Amino acid sequence: MPDRTKFILDEKSIPAQWYNIQADLPEPLPPPLHPATGNPVGPDDLAPLFPMELIKQEVSTERWIDVPGEILDVYKLWRPTTLFRAHNLEKALDTPARIFYKYEGTSPPGSHKPNTAVAQAYYNEKEGIKRITTETGAGQWGSALSFGGACFDVEIKVYMVAISYHQKPYRRIMMEAWGGKCVPSPSNETNAGRTMLEKDPDSPGSLGLAISEAVEEAVSREDTHYSLGSVLNHVLLHQTVIGQEAKEQMEMAGFYPDIIVGCVGGGSNAAGMYLPFLKDKIDGKKPDLRIINVEPASCPTLTRGPYTYDFGDVAGMTPLLKMFTLGHDFIPPPVHAGGLRYHGMAPIICHLHNLGLVEAVSVHQLETFEAGVLFAKTEGIISAPETNHAIRAGIDEALKCKKSGEAKTILIAHSGHGHVDMAAYQAYFEGKLHNYDYPEEKIKESLSHLPKVGD
Ligand SMILES: *Cc1c(COP(=O)(O)O)cnc(C)c1O
Repeated sequence: MPDRTKFILDEKSIPAQWYNIQADLPEPLPPPLHPATGNPVGPDDLAPLFPMELIKQEVSTERWIDVPGEILDVYKLWRPTTLFRAHNLEKALDTPARIFYKYEGTSPPGSHKPNTAVAQAYYNEKEGIKRITTETGAGQWGSALSFGGACFDVEIKVYMVAISYHQKPYRRIMMEAWGGKCVPSPSNETNAGRTMLEKDPDSPGSLGLAISEAVEEAVSREDTHYSLGSVLNHVLLHQTVIGQEAKEQMEMAGFYPDIIVGCVGGGSNAAGMYLPFLKDKIDGKKPDLRIINVEPASCPTLTRGPYTYDFGDVAGMTPLLKMFTLGHDFIPPPVHAGGLRYHGMAPIICHLHNLGLVEAVSVHQLETFEAGVLFAKTEGIISAPETNHAIRAGIDEALKCKKSGEAKTILIAHSGHGHVDMAAYQAYFEGKLHNYDYPEEKIKESLSHLPKVGD
């Protein structure tokens, strides 16, 4: 029998618990700090924004956290997701490497994001919260949370960066189809938005301003909380359903990965894939496992930023997080992988990187699209521009195997499809995309504004 292409699990194999890496870290995670006092942030500081259950998960050191049945029932709509062996890509590369990818694009919004959006909507609803605000750039997170809100009858209010709101309408319309309310930011619904509109009525908006608006509305209303789609510990926790399923599927395939690659914006899909495998590396069961975080050369957080305390947001409103960072007022160039343009990185990933347990590489935009097009031609799936970064790095490792003659097993975290990103492919095909290395002096400039507390 020829080697199998798909590894499919039954519904009863959806993980009933999330895996919490905080139970197995060789050293504990540096805590978030209050910017005013420099002291660790306590639950009371976060209570206006998040439900208590998520605040508990954020700091928990329990190894396994039960997934409530109501969340499992929603996961059943698309989980377990399929693990594929990329036979055709292997042939095209003429590599002895075995390439596998786990595809999160079959969720209703088309990416891994609903794994946490559904959970967050659920815990808010449980604690009597009727509304959640959030911000979104290109709209992936806003659409995922709108879907999550629809599952548990929570109203979702999305502040979408104005320029994307007008130029990239399709994810906004997806939000509306799921009952989410999407407004362009700056809006006249908050002080932060009104102040900006008075200065510049045609402001294109920014993610930082959208965060300010979403947070302002959440703290000013009893019935409203705020939600984040990446970076935080509880978000990475929810995403570990990906890696737990993948472990079982790799067992079905009869191989254990030598290399795992994932693209990182805030880091949630990559970590969700590799944290359950990383436990085996920490426990000494697979000490030579290589884990590669892939970021854009235009936003080189892990590869070029320092490891230090910084704000999680551009506006400087969040607690200070110990991260590799390009500086909270870093302005990313307009590359097409919108979901990877974050100045910081999940504190868990940064801690692991600092401990030498995971690696990082940066790749250029044109090479990511080249990889994505080859992937589409061989494997069929048209991937999100973010995902193309992971595919690029996976292909590069497979090509190294071709040179060395090694038959390594490579596992790619495939975070989603690119059907709503065809304008980016169009720009690539028309030759309008360029590579962009972030200039050293600009990184230095924004790092000179790091907060002074903490270190
Ligand atoms: C949002 C997004 C990402 C980046 O977010 P992470 O938290 O780093 O996973 C990657 N891929 C897709 C398809 C996304 O929508």
